[in-house]
Amino acid sequence: MKILFSASEMTPFAKTGGLADVAAALPKYLARLGHEVTVVLPRYYSIDRGELEFAFGNLGVPMGPLGTLWAGVYRKALAENLTVYFIDYEAFFGRKNLYTDDDGFSYPDNDRRFIFFSRAALELARALDFRPDIVHANDWHTAPQPIWLNTLLRDDPFFRKSRSVYTIHNLQHQGIFDRSALAYLQLGQEHFNPRELEAMGALNLMKGAIYHADKLSTVSPTYAREIQTPEFGFGLQEHIRAHAYKLRGILNGVDYDEWNPATDPYLAAHYDRGNMEGKAQCKADLQERMGLEKRSDLPLIGFVGRFAQQKGIELIAAAMHEMLHLPAQWVFLGSGEKWAEGFFGDLAGRFGQVGSYIGYSEALSHRIEGGADLFLMPSLFEPCGLNQIYSLRYGTLPIVRAVGGLDDTVENYDPQQGTGDGFKFWEPSKEALYHTVRWAVETWQKDPGAIERMRDRAMSRRFSWERSAREYEALYRAALEVMR
Ligand code: ADP
Repeated sequence: MKILFSASEMTPFAKTGGLADVAAALPKYLARLGHEVTVVLPRYYSIDRGELEFAFGNLGVPMGPLGTLWAGVYRKALAENLTVYFIDYEAFFGRKNLYTDDDGFSYPDNDRRFIFFSRAALELARALDFRPDIVHANDWHTAPQPIWLNTLLRDDPFFRKSRSVYTIHNLQHQGIFDRSALAYLQLGQEHFNPRELEAMGALNLMKGAIYHADKLSTVSPTYAREIQTPEFGFGLQEHIRAHAYKLRGILNGVDYDEWNPATDPYLAAHYDRGNMEGKAQCKADLQERMGLEKRSDLPLIGFVGRFAQQKGIELIAAAMHEMLHLPAQWVFLGSGEKWAEGFFGDLAGRFGQVGSYIGYSEALSHRIEGGADLFLMPSLFEPCGLNQIYSLRYGTLPIVRAVGGLDDTVENYDPQQGTGDGFKFWEPSKEALYHTVRWAVETWQKDPGAIERMRDRAMSRRFSWERSAREYEALYRAALEVMR
């Protein structure tokens, strides 16, 4: 199949979250399965042009009232059948960040920026004469693509055989704009109705894509069910339920070349199943780096993630006072909401058993996976989540709320049966969080044998991209069967 895959971020070029990792891994594994994959990404000015090859300089992108805008195109070949193209347009992408200014406010022209990018990717396919069987769009940024393929471009001979697949990586961000943005989409008012593009008087790009796409997916089976309910649906639950017949949940894989305690270059020592001595060295190294006492008699609990409500940081903050009484040490790595940066930064200053690093650090995220004993991820919702999967591989037992991908990947410890590889709680309350952390800490203190067996089970689990890519392949085949 010829696959046109568009995303607003991709590792290692531009990343704010898990979407970037999916956009790097899935195309790679689809290409390995023999498909011809073209990935399209904005050329944010944080991406060094020197690393790319100039392709051509006159890609015309029709933008309604703005007329035709002319973009430059760069490329980077990653494999014989896998090339990444970068859309260069300074007025939209010549900025410091991807989506927001330094204060976290969305750029006011995000509608134009990403409607432009979505259209540019389709026009690029035309310019390259790359007739996609599948147009795979991701999250709100590229939601216009499935909308157009079923409206504006429905009778376009170039896309006649193309079918669209739309993946929701996070339902919280839907691409909600003033209805005037319809003009950039070049769609008539007849599409501005509550079945298609309208929600509460505004234009909702994700809603439109859910309606128009041939197939839908999200990044875990549990999240696919959850987003049909009020707790997780962000207002779109009814709409998603109406389109659930074409929705599938496909769990992300992880890149075990990068996340492997036996080879990880960031770790002070290497270890693996059956040869765990290195983990103690990693722990000592992490303690030293974070200014913690080198205690081997206390469990070290790690946290890595965006400081966003989604990640349960408010629960952690609310339970922290109690949790600090537990015989444990803590390491926090993250950035995001200002209050949380202050809160977790301060904790390290006030309490000797806490270390924190406010910011983004690839190296430290690996060292926490390697050096911690337990990994905390109490998300309010979690489409898939990656860190808990890394944690399993590193034998760093995850403490998670049983939602979305966390529920699908972590098996709760059952002392009677002697099964499980993590500690789960359900209720989104500080009490539930506290008691689960306490359960984990007490198990660690009192039953090292059980912890050792849990570690061994955790480290034997695998969530491979090859398996996920095959599921996407099956979804693409199903999309191709959709009749027009
Ligand atoms: P989300 O996409 O919601 O942010 P995921 O768990 O799917 O959550 O992916 C987050 C990715 O970003 C992981 O690879 C995680 O290690 C990484 N990450 C998040 N915050 C940081 C940070 N402060 N430093 C280093 N890596 C981080």
